[in-house]
Amino acid sequence: AKALGRANFQFYAEELNRAALERIELERKLRKALEQDQFELWYQPQFSAADGTLTGVEALIRWRHPVDGLISPARFIPLAEETGLIVELGNWVLHTACQQTRQWREQGLPAIRMSINLSTRQLRSAQLGDKVAAALAASGLPARLLELEITESAVMERPQEAVGVLIGLKALGVSIAIDDFGTGYSSLSYLKLFPLDHLKIDRSFVSDIEHDPNDAAIVTAAVSLAHNLGLSVIAEGVETAVQLTRLRELGCDEMQGYYFSPPVPAADAAELLRLSARC
Ligand code: C2E
Ligand code: CA
Ligand code: CA
Ligand code: CA
Repeated sequence: AKALGRANFQFYAEELNRAALERIELERKLRKALEQDQFELWYQPQFSAADGTLTGVEALIRWRHPVDGLISPARFIPLAEETGLIVELGNWVLHTACQQTRQWREQGLPAIRMSINLSTRQLRSAQLGDKVAAALAASGLPARLLELEITESAVMERPQEAVGVLIGLKALGVSIAIDDFGTGYSSLSYLKLFPLDHLKIDRSFVSDIEHDPNDAAIVTAAVSLAHNLGLSVIAEGVETAVQLTRLRELGCDEMQGYYFSPPVPAADAAELLRLSARC
């Protein structure tokens, strides 16, 4: 039994070691990727529930590794967050998204809202407001066209602090969306203190909405809360026509999801903008 215990321990230690090494390797790759510009922004369109017009796009980061290929953010955002690399990466996202919007405008494409995702670390960084202001100034993008998406869990972790940060950001003229709504714990009394514009209903309530009456009840409550607070609602992860119909009945204002389009590279997003301008 003793020998077996020792063997188990050794196995466990080796596993730990392997995981730690993989992490270090990924962190090293991530730093190199920043230096070598291996990141891309892809864009997913959002549409008005009332008339189907394109209302905005959400920028979503992709990592194109020269050997491993396209790496999804789920694999590297958490590590970038832990190591603090997210601050530099997030700043790259901010600038790239603003510049992209300006480029589209210069090509005669319609001016639409550009949403970017902010991580918890970025929200806590003292220079966030300055960085947003700098990206707006450098690109000439009107502030009202930039939307910052902040997850419910990020703002609710330290809500008192978040109120101040969001008020400061809002003063720049940008709009603010609360992301992944319904997945975290929300204090409703705080929600009313945040200067929000959009509430994004998480995909987990959308995917089974036609079968699960609980999901429909949650969406109904969220829409009613949002509308009473003067916020507009975006449903995320809409994949079918049935979901679209149901979400529209429940009062969601905008839709985003594979049913309309997955996130696409900048050139394809420009094509979507061109098409939307024609109709
Ligand atoms: P998120 O902000 O909730 O973004 C929505 C995710 O759902 C995206 O995954 C999108 O591709 C995916 N999605 C959109 N429509 C559908 C659908 O109809 N069905 C399904 N199954 N999925 C759909 P993605 O691009 O892999 O991003 C995952 C997460 O990574 C994001 O979740 C966000 O939390 C984070 N992320 C992405 N880009 C950035 C970034 O630039 N900065 C930060 N801080 N986080 C980012
Ligand atoms: Ca988001
Ligand atoms: Ca989301
Ligand atoms: Ca999410």
